[in-house]
This record gives sequence, C-alpha cells and structure tokens, in this order.
Amino acid sequence: MTSEQIAGIVAERREAFSAGITKPLAWRREQLTGIRRMLTEHGAEFEAALAADLHRSPTETQLADINVILAEVSHALKNLKSWTTPKRVSLPLALQPGRGWVIREPLGVVLVIAPWNYPIQLLLGPVVAALAAGNAVVMKPSELAPATSAVFARLVPDYLDARAVSVVEGAVPETTALLEQRFDHIFYTGGARVGRIVAAAAAKHLTPVTLELGGKSPVYVDDSVDLEAAAKRIAWGKFLNAGQTCVAPDYLMATREVIDRVVPLIDAAVHELYGSDPQASGDYARIVSPARFEALTALLGDGTVASGGQTDAADKYIAPTVLTDVADDSRIMGEEIFGPILPVIEVTGADDAIRRIAAGDKPLSLYVFTNDDRVRKAFLRGTSSGAVGFNAALIQQTVIGLPFGGVGESGMGRYRGEAGFTTLSNEKAVLSKPLKPESMTMIFPPYTKRVDSFARGLLRRLS
Ligand code: NAD
Repeated sequence: MTSEQIAGIVAERREAFSAGITKPLAWRREQLTGIRRMLTEHGAEFEAALAADLHRSPTETQLADINVILAEVSHALKNLKSWTTPKRVSLPLALQPGRGWVIREPLGVVLVIAPWNYPIQLLLGPVVAALAAGNAVVMKPSELAPATSAVFARLVPDYLDARAVSVVEGAVPETTALLEQRFDHIFYTGGARVGRIVAAAAAKHLTPVTLELGGKSPVYVDDSVDLEAAAKRIAWGKFLNAGQTCVAPDYLMATREVIDRVVPLIDAAVHELYGSDPQASGDYARIVSPARFEALTALLGDGTVASGGQTDAADKYIAPTVLTDVADDSRIMGEEIFGPILPVIEVTGADDAIRRIAAGDKPLSLYVFTNDDRVRKAFLRGTSSGAVGFNAALIQQTVIGLPFGGVGESGMGRYRGEAGFTTLSNEKAVLSKPLKPESMTMIFPPYTKRVDSFARGLLRRLS
C-alpha cells in the first residue's frame, strides 16, 4: 500500500467521523456485536491462523485471545449507557446558581498498532474501547503474525462499518506512512524502541498516545508459601506462549535456600504442563521468528542450565528453560527476555529484592509469592509497577475492573473496561449558569475592599 493510499484511508475515516456516523449508541453497539460475531463465527479460522503464526494450541487461542475480547465486548455493551451518561458535578456555593457536568465524547480517529504475540487480544482490546467511545478506527496488525493479520484484513470489512473502520496491513513502511497522518489518539502496543518512534511521530501533531510496552517483570518467592503451587503458577505464567507475553515473569529472585527447593519444582511443573518433551506437546508455542530464535538462544550461555535448554532452529523451538548462576551484569539481565528462559537470581531476602527492583526501570508487572503480609506491604510501598500479583502471575491482566498499563519504561496510559473507554474519550467539562441573579459581581473589578476580602477567602469558599 502506498503512502497516498494510506493517507486516503485515514481521510475517509475522518470524513465518516465528521459526518457523525460513529456517535449514536446504536452504531457503537452494532460494531461491538460485530466483533463478537466475527470472533464466534470465525473462531476456527483465528485458531488456525495463530497455529500457523505461533504454533498456538486452539484452546490457548480461545483462552488468551478470543475470550478476553468477548468478555470486553460484553462488559462494554452492558456498561455503555452508564459510561456515556453525563456525570453531574456539584457546584460550590459561590458559583451557584448553576449546574456542572462531564460529557465523555469521542476523540475522532484512533490508530491502533498491535504486536504479534497475542495478535487478537492486543489488536481488538483497544479497538473495542475506541468503538465503544464512538471513534473511527484504523487498525494495524503486526506483520510478524501474518496469518492472523490476513484474517483481520479479510473479515473486518464484513463485520464492522467499513466507512469508519479499516485495517491497514504492513510493516515498517506502512506504519511509518500511517504515523505521518494526523490522528486523535494513537494506541501502540509493542517494544519501547518503536514506542519512542510512535511518541515522536505523535508529538508532531500533538496527538495523545497510549504506549503499552514491556520490560522485565520480576518475581519474588519466599518460603512462607507452598512452593510446589507457586512453582506451577510461575512456570505457567513464564512458559505460556513460550514466554512471549508482555507481563510474563522475566526473572525470579529468591534466597539460596528457596532457590534450591523451587528450581526442581519448576522443572517438575514444566513436565506436568507440557510432558517430558515439550517439543512434542501441541500446547507449547514456538518462537515467532528465526531472528528472535537466534537472539534468545544466544542468552542460554548466560548461566547454568538447571532445567530445559534444548533448542531446534528448524522448528524455532526453545524448551522451557531455567538458568541459575546468572550474573547481575549478564546480557540476559540487561534486556527484556520475551522468551522461555527464566534466570534465577539469588537475593538475601525481600528487602534486597525490593532494592534491586527500585534501582531499575519500573516494570509492567511484579509478582510476589508470599503469605507474609509485611513482605507484601513492603513490596507495595517500596516499588512502582503497572500491576502487582500476589501469589498469581499474568491473570491480573484479564480482570476487566483492573486498569491495564505500564509506568515509566513499561508504558503510559491504561485500558480494559471503563479505563479504555475513558482513555479514548474526551472528558468535556460543562458549566451552565443563568444570567440572573448575578452572583459574579463579587469578583468583577473595580477591586474594592469587598472584592479583595472575598478574593482572599475565595479559595476557602470555592472548596
Ligand atoms: P512488533 O514487532 O509486532 O511491533 C509492534 C508494532 O510496531 C507492529 O505493528 C509493527 O509493525 C510496528 N513497528 C515495528 N517497527 C516499527 C517502526 N520502525 N516504525 C513504526 N512501527 C513499527 O512487536 P514487538 O515490539 O516485537 O513486541 C514485543 C514487545 O511488545 C515486547 O517488549 C513486549 O513486552 C511488548 N508488549 C507489550 C504489551 C503490553 O500490553 N504492554 C503486550 C504485548 C507485547
């Protein structure tokens, strides 16, 4: 697709928005139910596409991609009326008589740029929020999940209003051409390097951005928990989608004594989840590309393989792997892993772990496996992250009432449920006063003693 064609697509979406077709609640509901119908009527095609792109099991595609969106759609449909109802705000005595309220109106045309790792959930999640909020949308699926991208390109025009919603497929040239256009919001999910490119492009038009990025999400485990149960949740969270999950546990911290006990338990959990040969399991995903496979296998030398370690380049397979004896200054500890390798770092206890986390970039998620309330509070107080899971990994991300997003290097902005609706709306503040009686003479010049004394007490009276 040429830059001119892309400019044309964006201009048409803007025309549709300006014509007002996206604003009626009935239209929004039609689009949301269109997404639901697309996913339910073509579930098998999406499952096949993810199997081709990532060797994903159909069950996992339902669980981690399709169902997350179906739940978002139902939630939005149920709450649309209340989200769009103007909210009354009470006025201070000094501004009465009058009324104040907040209207959440659509922003305009929203660009959604998605990654490949959960290519349905991470494309349609922001799209559901954008359409519920009454925006026109241009969506750009990832070129690294080409089969899924092609299914979207084929089906979206049949299920969503083509006047207001488009899919632009492509890689860097197409995304660059899109970013030259003026949007009213850009919702980007992916790595921080491209996040910076998106933010810089958006700045030219003063377009607000949501950046859903990644980073190193740490796990801390102590011996107050059932280590076998903790090991299973950590193994599941780390090795789901072969570790290619933005909120996956990146590395694990524990004391030497806990490490000696938990590492064999993680190894056992992997066998329970994926059998003695995960490569033969239909439930274990593959690395997305040969380049990512090479980058990940290069990290295997950064420690001692305590579990897994097998690779097969032809199959882009890396076994669920645990590495011990990993140095703080190793490459694997310097970058987001985004693959099925779990380095284990020895710490002296919770305070040491908190210090290390606080010294680095703020993570997208933090996982703490402990039943000690003082330890939980210390992590909450001593660290900052997009989310925290106590005795749980990943699943906080699926709770619609919990806003999802990062902080600092892990991103900016929130979505899921009402948080997404608010992000993609303009909260317009409205004040209405009758012209009479004129209470505002109290603040008009000339600034007499009476006005002056009013001004000095004004803050108190306004609050
Ligand atoms: P990706 O390569 O699929 O890229 C994301 C999008 O950016 C794609 O649509 C791609 O076409 C576009 N893009 C790539 N290069 C570009 C460029 N130079 N200019 C403009 N656009 C460009 O995804 P990725 O970055 O490999 O994804 C992995 C990263 O995403 C990890 O860091 C992961 O943690 C993060 N992630 C975050 C979330 C989240 O919700 N916070 C979810 C998934 C992944």
